[in-house]
Amino acid sequence: MSITELDKAYVAGTYKRFPVELTSGKGSLVFDSDGKRYIDLGSGIGVTAFGIADDIWKDAVTRQLGTLQHTSNLYYTEPCARLAEMLCQRTGMSKVFFSNSGAEANECAIKIARKYSQDRKGPDCSTIVTLKNSFHGRTLTTLAATGQDAFHRLFQPLTPGFVSVTPEHIDELYALAEATPIAGVMIECVQGEGGVVPLSREYVEALAAFTSERDIPLIVDEVQTGNGRTGALYAYMNYGITPDIVSTAKGLGGGLPLGATMMAEPFAGVLGYGDHGSTFGGNPVSSAGALSILGRMDQAFLDEVKAKGDYIFERLTGAKGVESVTGMGLMIGIKPTKPAAEIISRGIEKGILCLSAKEKVRLLPALNIPMGLLTEAIEILAGILSE
Ligand SMILES: *Cc1c(COP(=O)(O)O)cnc(C)c1O
Repeated sequence: MSITELDKAYVAGTYKRFPVELTSGKGSLVFDSDGKRYIDLGSGIGVTAFGIADDIWKDAVTRQLGTLQHTSNLYYTEPCARLAEMLCQRTGMSKVFFSNSGAEANECAIKIARKYSQDRKGPDCSTIVTLKNSFHGRTLTTLAATGQDAFHRLFQPLTPGFVSVTPEHIDELYALAEATPIAGVMIECVQGEGGVVPLSREYVEALAAFTSERDIPLIVDEVQTGNGRTGALYAYMNYGITPDIVSTAKGLGGGLPLGATMMAEPFAGVLGYGDHGSTFGGNPVSSAGALSILGRMDQAFLDEVKAKGDYIFERLTGAKGVESVTGMGLMIGIKPTKPAAEIISRGIEKGILCLSAKEKVRLLPALNIPMGLLTEAIEILAGILSE
């Protein structure tokens, strides 16, 4: 059997894969089993932040792999401690809990918010408010947090205690708070799976002011937007707010599974011994990889991410076949006049790999994609959009 046939026979049918078998890559180039070259504008859904087999990342990971690959969380290890320190120093947060994925990072955030609020305001204070059109993960609790009914069907009952409100309508939250004790509010600054939709500054500021006044923990889900993706280290930094809890994953490990939940004071002290855990969380190899990724994201690097994003916006806004371009930094949604799926399939024929989000073509290239490859890919995309 071919790899495609084997996969179809034995891997659970949850993914509608493109008819491409990827075999290798370097940086922002990937190659398939026929040796065809593609420019990667998706980076494994925003995961390979420095592209495929980046030398510095690979050295950090392989050095750690040959030293100590796993210990369990019964012992101290250097990469995990140093990564937590780096995350706290770069964000001003106080403590980090490590896990392996975005959904897990959000589960931890939700547990912190509930414990904090129930401890102060009583056991009835359990409702977590999220936004309609959000995406927070696939576990039963993060599905409940995800404000899109399409994901919920036939998986009932989901974890109770989640209500979603309409983004940009702050009065909905005010009204809800009159009737319901709220244990936490969770947002994505740019809704990724929801179609690359940035929240407005006014709305995010109003949310931050309201939650702070009422002593309600504000959780920002930076699973997709974090780790340099939007041209700031974390997207909330573009909004001038200070969240109480920040979850992240995707790009953090540079391609290895790693989730992190960061806590500001006083939330850093909420979880005590035995309150939470993860066998693989803070794994030394993933953590060593993350240190090599975050350590290179200085201001000059982030400015370049922003400049590359600006270039894509300028090139495609108002271009033929483009209804709109939305997003921030190198997280971009393009609404084509034709169906997004057609554009993406044509892209594969012509040697570019793009993602979708709702009705949009979504681009999440590696943050260090060379300008030459980026312009080559965007010209190909512009050509396809205008066909
Ligand atoms: C991808 C994503 C998740 C889920 O992450 P997993 O690693 O797949 O569990 C959660 N929130 C947001 C905003 C995401 O984009």
